[in-house]
Amino acid sequence: MIPFLDLNQINKPYLEAIEEVSLRVLRSGWYILGRELQDFESAFAEYCGAPYCIGVANGLDAIGLILRAYDFPAHSEIIVPGNTYIASLLPVSYLGLVPVLIEPDPYTMLIDPQKIERSITSETRAILCVDLYGRSCEMEAVNEIALRYNLKVITDAAQAHGAVYNGRKVGSIADATAFSFYPTKNLGALGDAGAITTSDGALAEKIMYLRNYGSKERYKNDYLGVNSRLDEIQAAILGVKLPFLDTENKRRREIARCYLSGITLENLILPPDDRIDEDAWHLFVVRHPDRNALIKHLGASGVQTNVHYPLPVHKQKAYADINHLSLPLTESIHQQVISLPLNPVLTDEEISYIVGAVNQFGNQK
Ligand SMILES: *Cc1c(COP(=O)(O)O)cnc(C)c1O
Repeated sequence: MIPFLDLNQINKPYLEAIEEVSLRVLRSGWYILGRELQDFESAFAEYCGAPYCIGVANGLDAIGLILRAYDFPAHSEIIVPGNTYIASLLPVSYLGLVPVLIEPDPYTMLIDPQKIERSITSETRAILCVDLYGRSCEMEAVNEIALRYNLKVITDAAQAHGAVYNGRKVGSIADATAFSFYPTKNLGALGDAGAITTSDGALAEKIMYLRNYGSKERYKNDYLGVNSRLDEIQAAILGVKLPFLDTENKRRREIARCYLSGITLENLILPPDDRIDEDAWHLFVVRHPDRNALIKHLGASGVQTNVHYPLPVHKQKAYADINHLSLPLTESIHQQVISLPLNPVLTDEEISYIVGAVNQFGNQK
């Protein structure tokens, strides 16, 4: 069986270095908000081309802390893509803000800038872009709308470390960008971790305090903050892996290229191929009208797949208040998507095998 993702294999090349830095932290006697975190924050800021980076506990908190720092009035509307993972919307809801869901571009499956403007009202304060599957949203169009309506642009880049848009790395394009370093992401820790990048110094400073109980000075709390810190061991581990992110993303791009040129199955929609060397290819998401049969066929052929995601956020039980919304494009995407294995440890033989297995669908008799 070719596994969808094997974290043991993913982390194998780094194990010795990870052991070394973990031991360094263990022996240092300093576990939270120290040198390791500062070093990683500087390295990740530089990697993204962003002046500031603040490490936080996870990707969900990264989004939430950006929204908290902006301190929008209650009931402000935040424009969000309908096609995303629930973590993009939850922080909006927690803070008493209103997520306004819009349909994706049918080609990229990402937020469609042409559909943003009609959803803007006098209550709108921000556009939340999600660089889903590892591809940057159309930021030129989004930023132009935001400028015209005086809105903040926030990006959920939990799946897009190292993706590039118009020559700029994700993390340096929006007003503030949220990253997750959950173990399965392109840059993954060995536990939970996240970060925020921004070029706004005042925002960065506020988030630094907010992640640590709103405290500027020990035992003096200027804001109603939270506890969302990236610990020293995870920061040190991320520092080991960051220098290899571009090499790993390069391998992801090679694999994407093989899939895009090799897969010829009729009725199968491939992901966009116009920016192969800029997208970070966190996931390789294809669409097929008989998705479940294709999953079964691939499973029987020894290829493990996944579905990102089977049920849209607005149809989740947790979001009963918006279950009535109708987003036909978003809903059809959720019915048709399959994620093929795409990760830097796949071998050339496995890739050819997967291409062959997909192309065989329907002719296996
Ligand atoms: C993983 C992910 C998150 C949440 O990250 P956590 O670190 O698990 O909190 C948010 N948004 C998207 C699109 C993700 O893929």
